[in-house]
Amino acid sequence: MRTEVLVIGAGVSGLTCATRLAEAGVRTAVVEARSRVGGRIRTFRPTDGGPSLELGAQVVHGDLNPVHGIVDTETAPRPTAARVVSGRVGRPMGAPARTPQPPWALEARLNAEGAGIGESVNDWLVDRGGPYPVASEWFRQIWATDPERLSARGVAEAHRGDTAGRGEFVVSGGFDLLPRRLAAGLDVRTDCPVQVLGWSPGRVSAQTPAGVVEAERVVVTVPPSVVTHGTLTVKDLPEPKVEAARALAGGDGCCVVATLSVPAPETASVFDADGIGGFVSCREGRPEALIVARDAAAAHVRAATAGYGPATASSTGSDLATLLAVALPWAARAEVVDIEVADWGADPWSRGAFTAPTVGAEWAPVIWAEPVADTLFFAGEATVSGTRLPWVQGAIASGVIAADRLLEAMG
Ligand SMILES: Cc1cc2nc3c(=O)[nH]c(=O)nc-3n(C[C@H](O)[C@H](O)[C@H](O)COP(=O)(O)OP(=O)(O)OC[C@H]3O[C@@H](n4cnc5c(N)ncnc54)[C@H](O)[C@@H]3O)c2cc1C
Repeated sequence: MRTEVLVIGAGVSGLTCATRLAEAGVRTAVVEARSRVGGRIRTFRPTDGGPSLELGAQVVHGDLNPVHGIVDTETAPRPTAARVVSGRVGRPMGAPARTPQPPWALEARLNAEGAGIGESVNDWLVDRGGPYPVASEWFRQIWATDPERLSARGVAEAHRGDTAGRGEFVVSGGFDLLPRRLAAGLDVRTDCPVQVLGWSPGRVSAQTPAGVVEAERVVVTVPPSVVTHGTLTVKDLPEPKVEAARALAGGDGCCVVATLSVPAPETASVFDADGIGGFVSCREGRPEALIVARDAAAAHVRAATAGYGPATASSTGSDLATLLAVALPWAARAEVVDIEVADWGADPWSRGAFTAPTVGAEWAPVIWAEPVADTLFFAGEATVSGTRLPWVQGAIASGVIAADRLLEAMG
């Protein structure tokens, strides 16, 4: 196959980039390793037609987020009972131990005040009377990174660089409608992983199991860790890029939809400040509980689900049941009958949740984003980490930036 521009990856950054190139009249093809588009957007739909749940990106951040213009959105429902688990005991969210302000108020303060180069979020908390374990775990879960490594300055700068506005929203009908809408009308080939990418100025050659794709230019949108792990080999990648990819390792993430034997008697959203379960939520009248766990909590959740299968003699899912019962006391009276796991940390096509700005790696996103010889271009949330939020709006922005750079190079 031969095309003008090859885009590797059909996540929102790749699809946005390809849309912009196609609109400019450039012959563009997108190749995607998975059998679906969307990358780290993955929607779970219960078989009985109940409301969908998100195993990847959860909410649309901001009333000015470009997502609103592409799919229908609605205000994110506010859970009627917000609790925090601390010392393996659930309490109302208003009473987390020894924190002067709720964690989100501390994050707003950090964004307003900014921070010095080299200062971690934990340093910043200590300077303000901390450490506050609940707030520290909150930052860990929001940013999928150890607050000892999370750059306070990077967090503040990313918020300042974000133009998505205020408020939180959900995509009516499921977040995966976004990539599906973006992909409509594009030349997208799924189940087509690029294994080796060779190039010389003005010419690229991508090896896939279905054959070689040739193009004049390429946009690489895969998470940098995919390159570091060698799942995608980019030949003759300049050494600074190799180092940048290493420095931009995505934080761990593991999400689970557990279907229980009884419906939830409440709508609840629970934050596990002990670092075991991340965020656990349920909706009144529905049998599903959703766990969204990052960094160390992701490892706990992964271990709790390991070997789990729907109720067999050797595997009862008891670790998972315990975890759920602490967060959602009603779950102690229920059995876990099924689980759906999205293990972003172990997934070969993501190798992590997303890329937080970390102390000492402030240089890396710019280097990773830099085109090579007007031939290799780069997009994806990691290319804007530290200057924008590494979430869906950041991925979309990165796709636009890469397309504009490429169009400029084409003259
Ligand atoms: C658990 C979790 C919760 C999140 N919550 C939110 C949230 O609430 N709000 C928000 O805005 N964002 C959230 N995010 C972040 C958001 O999902 C990402 O920032 C965004 O989806 C990244 O898009 P991308 O295009 O940069 O990367 P990806 O979506 O990862 O796209 C890259 C694509 O490249 C493909 N690929 C990889 N290797 C190859 C290869 N060798 N050949 C071909 N294709 C390849 C992948 O399969 C993938 O489809 C969350 C992410 C996770 C994991």
